[in-house]
Amino acid sequence: VGNPAAGRFASQEIDEAIRVAVSGGTRRRTSFELKRSEGRTVLRVSVRPIRREDGASAIVVVEDITQQRAAEEARNSFVAQAAHELRTPLTNIRLYVEQAIDASDTELEVRAQALNVINNESQRLERLVQDMLSVAEIESGSMSIHAGEVRLAQLLDTVSGEYVAQAKDKHIALKFELPPKLPVIKGDRDKLSLAVHNIVGNALKYTPEGGKVTVRVSWEQDEVRIAVEDSGIGIKDEEQGLIFDKFYRAKDSRIASITGTGLGLTLARDVIRLHGGDIGIKSEVDKGSTFTISLPARAA
Ligand code: ADP
Repeated sequence: VGNPAAGRFASQEIDEAIRVAVSGGTRRRTSFELKRSEGRTVLRVSVRPIRREDGASAIVVVEDITQQRAAEEARNSFVAQAAHELRTPLTNIRLYVEQAIDASDTELEVRAQALNVINNESQRLERLVQDMLSVAEIESGSMSIHAGEVRLAQLLDTVSGEYVAQAKDKHIALKFELPPKLPVIKGDRDKLSLAVHNIVGNALKYTPEGGKVTVRVSWEQDEVRIAVEDSGIGIKDEEQGLIFDKFYRAKDSRIASITGTGLGLTLARDVIRLHGGDIGIKSEVDKGSTFTISLPARAA
């Protein structure tokens, strides 16, 4: 109080804006952004002249917009990634639609094959769009839990049913080991299904042919644990903390040929945390991984 403003902000730009404002050189507000070299801090500064009878003053407002900027960057890269991910299935659909149209009436097999690809690719598109919408929902903080009664036994049964064919195709021994009784918990059935789905789906995706995937469920007092163990490619120690990040895919050459968005684990963990639980991971390269979902088993 009572000191000159010049030099206070350690910024020549702010000093200059104040000088202009109080000298009567402008009646308008000046706004600009300042990037601090230390860290990634971004400040938005606005300097507005105010006239008083006893002379000129200025109001300086400094806002820290680092978070906002980071969110914008994330959104932009999300859009770019999303567009990229959507293009592949769309291209395939277009190609195979052409093939189906071109096939003569006698080429039933070609047509059936094309329809099969179109079917698979549209399902992939649907999944992608769903994931992206859910991520967008989480990002905006508006994801809410539609709490209801979730019969865990039924939920796991559905997930198991959805993966039987895929496991068989890949000659993977998929086993579900459930205790005789599982609780009915309070939560959002669709979202919990999605989380379990993503973890089991990953185990099958990242386990080569002939491998093993075991889903072990245990229930003790007030906690249910769903451990998904695979004999797959594993994850390096230094990447285990990163794979839950949005769009992160391991830097393993074997990952490149496996389709994915890098969103599945982000979603799964967000959903589980919204239910008061968490996901843990243990993994060793070339040996396999175990993802353990723990959920509070508050009775519904
Ligand atoms: P996506 O599978 O679509 O790439 P996820 O968010 O589900 O995205 O997973 C992120 C990354 O974590 C994967 O790309 C992969 O590198 C690694 N990962 C996830 N699950 C497994 C697993 N069971 N075994 C090995 N790596 C895994």
